[in-house]
Amino acid sequence: MKTKAAVLYEINEPLQIEELTIPELRSGQVLVKIAYSGICRSQLNEIRGLKGQDKFLPHTLGHEGSGIVEAIGLGVSKVKPGDHVVLTWIKGKGAEIPSTLYKKADGSVVNSGAISTFMTKAVISENRLVKIPPEMPLREAALLGCAIPTGAGIVLNTLRVQSGNSIAIFGVGGIGLSAVLAARLMNATPIIAVDVFDHKLKLARDVGATHLINASQGDPLTTIMKITDGRGVDYAIEAAGRRETMESAFQAVRNNGGLCVLAGNLLHGERISLDPFDLIKGKQIIGTWGGETDPDRDIPQYIRLYQASKLKLDELITDTFSLDEINKTIDMMSKGKITGRCLIEMPEQDC
Ligand SMILES: [Zn+2]
Repeated sequence: MKTKAAVLYEINEPLQIEELTIPELRSGQVLVKIAYSGICRSQLNEIRGLKGQDKFLPHTLGHEGSGIVEAIGLGVSKVKPGDHVVLTWIKGKGAEIPSTLYKKADGSVVNSGAISTFMTKAVISENRLVKIPPEMPLREAALLGCAIPTGAGIVLNTLRVQSGNSIAIFGVGGIGLSAVLAARLMNATPIIAVDVFDHKLKLARDVGATHLINASQGDPLTTIMKITDGRGVDYAIEAAGRRETMESAFQAVRNNGGLCVLAGNLLHGERISLDPFDLIKGKQIIGTWGGETDPDRDIPQYIRLYQASKLKLDELITDTFSLDEINKTIDMMSKGKITGRCLIEMPEQDC
């Protein structure tokens, strides 16, 4: 059986669309026909080699998606053929099978991890799948693999934002927008969105931000202090993946218990600088691992919220492309041309 996949051969080179042979399922593995895949900054960083040396080249990519189970390996009990599933990089219940190998027609090997989604069919480790109800649209479900669990998870699990808390979200891509959605769900106020693109800020306002700051037009800190009467916000989230933004987000939280969460990634080896006196005054800073998400607990909860029209996932999806357009999509993303989350839609028919 074959699959069509976008393969990274060399750092900073376009992905190659290849036909690969799907290996026989090992115990704990699941074959999924992918419906939609998300694309994150994380994959852009992987392609640019910003995560350090890549010893797995050539390899497949993608860590967020939705699809339908085609076959299961021995011992898989979480899903069965025909089930609709979310594919997520965040580990849940079930077997962890960290790698799989696909073969090209010439016999050479392409590496794959526990999850890959830039392909029409993929072998996935059981613990990266969550079964969803068939009435949940697969298009919106794809966002539940990374953007929503990370962004909303930071608000709901990591920070436990309450009604009336103030929050600033730096960087309103997929994760930042998901955080805005969850902050609105919890009735946080104000919800301040910071970005350098007006089209992204406008979408942030549409999904719940109460104040918008374009950081390319002056220091966002000055405006945040003005909005909060000089106090600073209760919470700040950094989802832009920039050093200066991380430092600003930390500065933006109030003394005596304000908490800043870093969700963005810097270049391998890059550092941020903090004034320790800010820590003494009670500003706090932490990181996050996927919004402290338990996929088996949280993804069904997000689906219930979506079905009750409380989590407006549809509004986050602004662009859809085909797998053949993946390099164009990556280029548009890296230039900030995608307003919200973009999805890769896989063909209905097999390759
Ligand atoms: Zn991601």
